[in-house]
Amino acid sequence: MENCLFCKIIAGEIPAQKMYEDDDMIIIKDIDPKAKNHFLCIPKTHFKLLAEMTEEQAETLKRCLKKIPTLEKELELKGGYRLVINQGDDAGQSVFHLHIHILSGQKMGWTPA
Ligand code: 5GP
Ligand code: ZN
Repeated sequence: MENCLFCKIIAGEIPAQKMYEDDDMIIIKDIDPKAKNHFLCIPKTHFKLLAEMTEEQAETLKRCLKKIPTLEKELELKGGYRLVINQGDDAGQSVFHLHIHILSGQKMGWTPA
């Protein structure tokens, strides 16, 4: 999708600190962390909202969700973690390519934008 920040990061056009990548997703460090560890799991398929998700995209999202706990070491998940998906303006969604925030480590907070 043109002019989408996360599509550009997926394409390697904008640099990011990549933690993991496969055919379905990339997981990068958030540029403005809201916890000790703050990662973004970004499905490679572009869609904005769960409400707009196709069946195929739902399958991709399921694989993303199943992958996250397997990356316990890489994402420092051992002590617990929080997943957040902001949906729409009132939730403070600022990048309109669906993504899962992964927050872990001490001081695991969430400050809405
Ligand atoms: P949202 O507000 O849409 O739920 O989350 C967007 C997230 O993307 C924010 O936490 C923000 O800090 C992060 N972000 C915005 N621009 C960049 C960027 O260029 N690189 C990375 N790694 N994260 C970004
Ligand atoms: Zn996109």
